[in-house]
Order: sequence, then structure tokens, then C-alpha cells
Amino acid sequence: MAKIRPETQLVHLGRNPKYTQKGVNPIIQRTSSVIFDTVEEKRHATQNRANSVLFYGRRGTQTHFAFQEAMTELECGAGTVLYPSGAAAITNSILSFVSSGDHILVTGSAYDPTQNFCDKILTKLNIKTDYFDPLIGAGIAELLRTNTRIVFLEAPSSITMEIHDLPAIVQAIRQQAPETIIMIDNTWAAGVLLKPLLLDIDISIQSATKYINGHSDSMLGIAVANQRCIKTLRENSYLLGQTADPDTVYMAGRGLHTLATRLKQHESSGLTVAQWLEQRPEVESVYHPALPSCPGHSFFVRDFSGSNGLFSFQLKSRLSQQQFEDFLNHFSHFKMGYSWGGYESLILGYQKEDLLSMRQYDFQPNDGTFFRIHVGLEHPQDLIDDLALAFERI
Ligand SMILES: *Cc1c(COP(=O)(O)O)cnc(C)c1O
Repeated sequence: MAKIRPETQLVHLGRNPKYTQKGVNPIIQRTSSVIFDTVEEKRHATQNRANSVLFYGRRGTQTHFAFQEAMTELECGAGTVLYPSGAAAITNSILSFVSSGDHILVTGSAYDPTQNFCDKILTKLNIKTDYFDPLIGAGIAELLRTNTRIVFLEAPSSITMEIHDLPAIVQAIRQQAPETIIMIDNTWAAGVLLKPLLLDIDISIQSATKYINGHSDSMLGIAVANQRCIKTLRENSYLLGQTADPDTVYMAGRGLHTLATRLKQHESSGLTVAQWLEQRPEVESVYHPALPSCPGHSFFVRDFSGSNGLFSFQLKSRLSQQQFEDFLNHFSHFKMGYSWGGYESLILGYQKEDLLSMRQYDFQPNDGTFFRIHVGLEHPQDLIDDLALAFERI
């Protein structure tokens, strides 16, 4: 069969006839108990409970199996584990591979709750975290210790958008510490724009709350692992009681079918808004992975197949508290809110001290006020008009 393109793959994913029962979509199977008619049937389910065989609701139903198979194929892995949120996917993936006395390395630009988990929970378990500069590249070799169990990456970084030199980091780790597990928070790429497992990263983690669901109406976490890690990851998720409900999982699977089309529109509108921002006299820099002003842009061009609607920009000067509020309080379309990846546009503002409090490496931001925006599916000209009015207000 001819190799299919990503748009076509996303239309087909998760629609194995095993799970669709003659419909277009997989069934939503809501059940806690699974009923066995014979002792032999129960024994078979018990022995194969890790392999898409119905065993007990917490371990997944046909709805979960359909979505897990879709994600495994999309991210080129050996298997997928589901969690109730992206944050749970991150913390459980890390916990699955560490013991007391271990050391882990985490990018100092990681999503804030990832850092908080390491600082507040791993510390209690006598697991030490060291943070590194996202642009460290092969220099990661100098930070590896004999007890470094995990290197945790995220590209682009949350908020500040730096992009790692992934092949250089992976190669340095594989040469010096081949047993170290490499994980990445791949939420920005949505499993489409970057394929971490093809770069020899062991586990690709995502918040499906973002682009995969795409409609800001449910929360779900995903970890796709390679052959070397899937068994441990899956067993630990069972031990820790992780599960997701079938309705939410169905919504995520539904999102996959329009993901390519939505991402292309977010990308096109995002670039239109980013390029308009670049021309504004008030703007110092636009941190959009597809623009040369983004740190690590050349790695983005090499390793990613496209961009989306999430990026940041920084002003030349620091806004006063009054200006900060005037800028943010009166948007028609950009509403302030955490999260992103839905159809709606969002904005968050940061002063220098806010950025410094989120970074655990030698990070020296300029004084200019900083904004992270998500460009949604509104017409980009309406979004530009909205931003133009905000600049007038200051
Ligand atoms: C939102 C987000 C998460 C957490 O996902 P939830 O589903 O909200 O728990 C993790 N990583 C990144 C990069 C995110 O943006």
C-alpha cells in the first residue's frame, strides 16, 4: 500500500472495525465490570490484560483500546497509557522509572507543574532533580551522573518557546548513559508536528486536553512508549490506579480526525498574527518557533514538520501595572486563561519577575513585558484588530 499522508492517517486512526461495529466511529463502552462466562475466559483475560483484552473497566474498554491503538500508531510507539490529565501523564511517567536515591535531569524551561512535582514530591522521595538550559545540546553529557535515571525534555518550552537540539541531546545521553530513560512533553506538537520516538526518545507525553481534544471541554493525558519502556510504564499506571473515562477518551479520538485541518488553520493564522506583531514598534521580539527570532529556530526547521497557534512575544519596555491591566482587560477575542489548543484565542501576560520565578537555569530575560498567546480559529484579521486596540490602550 502507498504510504499515506498525515491528513489521511488522522482520518483513519482509531477506526479499526473491531471497535466500530459497522459504524463510522468506535463505540463508547461504559463498564466497570467485565463478565466472564467460563473459567477459561477469565483466565485468558487475566493473562492478556495488558494487550487490549477486556479485563476490568479501570484497565480500559473497547473505546480506550481504539484510541490507544490510534496514538501508538500516530507516535510510532509500542503502546499507549492514558491518564486523567496531562499533568498526571507527566508525574506518573516519571514515577514509573525512579527509586529513592536516584537523580533526574529536567529542562529548566519545563511546564511549571512539572517543575513543582519534581521540587515538592520527588524531593520527599529522596530523588534529586537538576535543571538544565533548554539550549544545552550535547553539553547535557556533563550533567549526567551514574544514578541519572531520567532526562525530561519539552520542546518548544512552555511560555519562552526555546527549542532543544534533540538529536544532540539524545546522542550524548545514548553514548554516555544508554540506560537513562529519555522523556519529552510533546504537547505542543500534538503528536503530529514532531515524532520523538523516531529520534530515539523513549516516551512521548502529551496533554490531550490541548490540540487533540481541541474544543476546551475535557481533560486527558497520554504517554506513548517504545518497546523498552511500555511494560514498566503500563504496570506502574495500574499500580497507581490511573484511569480515564470512556466518554473523555472518545472525545479525544474524535478530535484526531480534524486535527490536521485545525492545526493548519492555527498555523496559518498564528503566522499572520506573529508577523503583524513583528512589525509593531512596541514589540522587541516574537518567540514563534517558525520565526528566526525564536531561540533554537534552526532545530525547529530541521526536526518539526510545522507550527501551530501557540507562541509568545515581548515588548521593548516594561508596562506599568495600570498599562498591564489596560492591555489585558478589554480584549474582545483574546481572553485570559490557562491552557490552549482549543478553537478560541487566549492570552497571558508576564512581567520579568514572573518569568524568573518559572525558570531554573541561568535565564536572563529583558525587562519588557511578555505575553503568551494562543491564536484560535477566529479570522486572523479580527484578532489583529483586537491586538491593535490593546496597543492603543497603552
Ligand atoms: C497543559 C499542559 C500540560 C498539562 O496538561 P493538563 O491536561 O492540563 O493536565 C502539560 N504540558 C504542557 C506543555 C501543557 O501545556
